Parts: sequence; structure tokens; C-alpha cells
Amino acid sequence: MLNILIVGNGQCGNRILDAINREAFGKKSRFGKYLSQQKYKSNVQTIAINTAVNDLKEMKFTKAKDRIHIPHLHGVGANRNVGKHVFEDNKTHIMRQIEERGNFDVSFVITSASGGTGSSFTPMLVKELKEKHDFPVYVVVVLPFREEGTLYLQNAAFCLRDIRESGADGIILADNQFLKQMGGNVESAYNGINDMVAKRLLFLMDALDSEMMMVTDLGDFKTVMSGGAGLATIGFYEAETDMPVRTAIQKAVSPSGLLFSSDVYDEASRAMIIIRGDRERLSIDEISTEVEKLSSSVGHVFKGIIVRDGELPQVLAVLTLESAAELENLYSIAVDAIKYERAKKDRVTNDKEVDRAFSQIDGMDPSY
Ligand code: GDP
Repeated sequence: MLNILIVGNGQCGNRILDAINREAFGKKSRFGKYLSQQKYKSNVQTIAINTAVNDLKEMKFTKAKDRIHIPHLHGVGANRNVGKHVFEDNKTHIMRQIEERGNFDVSFVITSASGGTGSSFTPMLVKELKEKHDFPVYVVVVLPFREEGTLYLQNAAFCLRDIRESGADGIILADNQFLKQMGGNVESAYNGINDMVAKRLLFLMDALDSEMMMVTDLGDFKTVMSGGAGLATIGFYEAETDMPVRTAIQKAVSPSGLLFSSDVYDEASRAMIIIRGDRERLSIDEISTEVEKLSSSVGHVFKGIIVRDGELPQVLAVLTLESAAELENLYSIAVDAIKYERAKKDRVTNDKEVDRAFSQIDGMDPSY
């Protein structure tokens, strides 16, 4: 049985964590039986951390004892420098909360890259965890919509770099911009994206702790995640009624299945494909052919098969990337955003006009 820690930092991290808990404990959930009080396979501990108490209150499926409020007025206002100070001041308290829950085999920290709290807490938390423990720490990072503004873009660029330098064992990318076709308004897009991330992480945890027909385990996952440039993404697809398993595999690694825009045949460096479903529906020939196709361009592909009676085939693909064209695009927009903010700051500092206006009333008092 694996001991798994999942931390959700900031609003986005909290919400995705709540979506995981909803799937895990929800009445209709098929994951419920693995994670519910009596029967869960893994020992999963979830912790939500935030400076904004309202974000924590909004959570519906995460126990109150698992929601840690770090008081700082009303959040850190997308300012990562403020966020870093707040983390430093509360580090002992945060680490104690985590350590009280025992030791872990693996951990996942979920955050957006672009806000204030999650983006500043996460790299510092990872660093602390890596210094004090030897379990791997994987960070699930949500990238912003590109039109969300210059502060978010520059935060995303610096946050990702900080996470890479924090000692994290791997970064799993999910991109709001890429996933926004989930449709509807922003709120329903968020919910759709959060559900996608939650479902993939739960499938992964289930797979790492399952008796499989063909085995992949935490060791294989670690090997996959250590490949490439430290970046990864996850694909998933659930077959429709008559869909052959090979089509489900193809769809899981195609853009419609991924959390981040990538041509995996070109950019992936290692992969792990896990197929779950009824034995009748899992043609070993088809699975082998598809996996061989992927490994001929990717290199090494670990393959796992989990038999679940009566289930339609579902495919999870963890892919580490050795290059990421979309990330380069994001950084070039972020550089413009950083320059724009710097120029604006210089203008304000150099601009004496407002001071001149105020100076006109120097030495005067209002008369009533
Ligand atoms: P923090 O609370 O200060 O860490 O800030 P947020 O987590 O709200 O970070 C803002 C970024 O997260 C923006 O890019 C938002 O688009 C994104 N975001 C906020 N909430 C959600 C959510 O529930 N789901 C997703 N996918 N993205 C979110």
C-alpha cells in the first residue's frame, strides 16, 4: 500500500484538490471504493493551503482539518514577493501540518503558476520537502489563459523556473489556454479542467497501487518522470462502446487527450501507458502494436494493464517531454509582459507630474 500526499496550494490548487476528493469520496465515484475510509488501497492524505480564507471555505469535499489557512489579510494579491515572505514566516507551521501525517512514498503538489499564493508557496514548499524527506515530489502546474494579463504571465514564467530549481522530481503541465475549449463560461471551463486533472491523478494513483496483469509501479513512474527536461503531461481517454483499444490509446496521446499542447511523437522523451478495462476488450496485439509505434519515436514506453470486469477500456499516458514548443511560446509572451511592467514602473518612478500637481497645495490647509 502506498502512502500518498497531495497538497493543493492557492485557489487553483485548492479547487483541483477538492475535485480529487469529490471523485474519491463522492457517492457515484468508482474511485470511492479505493479511497473511502474503510477500503482505500492507498493511504492518501490531502492538504489544502491558502492565504485567502474564502477559497478554503469554498471547498466542499475536503475535510476542515485538511484546510490550512495562513493568515495574510486577503491573500497576497498576485505578488510573489509578498507570497514568499508569508511562506517563510509560516514555514514551521506548514511543515508541521504535513509531518504530522506520517511519512510518504510519493507526493503531488498542485498549483497554478500565475497567481500569488500557490505560485510563491509551491517552490519553497518543494524545497523544504526535498531537504527533509526522500520521497519524490511531483508538481502539477496549471498555466494561465494567455489573455489574463501581464502580472499573471510574468508570475508563470518565474514560478516555473523556481519550481525547476526547487528540486522537484518532475513538473506535470496542464494548460488553461490549451484546455479552454472545455467551453462555457470561465467557471465551467475551470470545473471541466479541474475534473480532467483530478481524474488523471486518481487513475495514476490507482494504477501505481494495483495488482496488474502487466505491471507498472512507482519505480517505473519515477523513471519516466526523470526523463526529458523535467517536464511532463498526462493524456487520458475512455473508449466509447465499440471503440477498439488501439483507438483509445491513439486518442489518449493525441491533443484531445492531453493536458498540455504537445506533439508527443516529436517532443516526448519517455512514456508510461496504462490500460484498464474488461479483459475481453483488451486485445494484447493491438496494445503491443500501438505501444511499439509510440516507442519507435519516443524511446522507452512502460506498459501496464489492469483488468476490471465490465469496464470499457480507459487509457492513461504519462509523457515526459524533452522539448516543449508551447512553453517557448509562453515564455516569449511572458518576456514582453515583464518588459511592459518594468517600463510602466520606470514611467511612474520618473514621472513627476503627479508630484507637481500635489506640490501646488504645499503649505496650504483646507478652509471650510
Ligand atoms: P492564488 O490563490 O494566489 O495562488 O492564485 P490562483 O490559484 O487563483 O491563480 C490564478 C491563476 O489560476 C489564473 O491563471 C487562473 O486562470 C487560474 N485558476 C484559478 N482558479 C482555477 C481553477 O479552479 N481551475 C483552473 N484550471 N485554473 C484556475
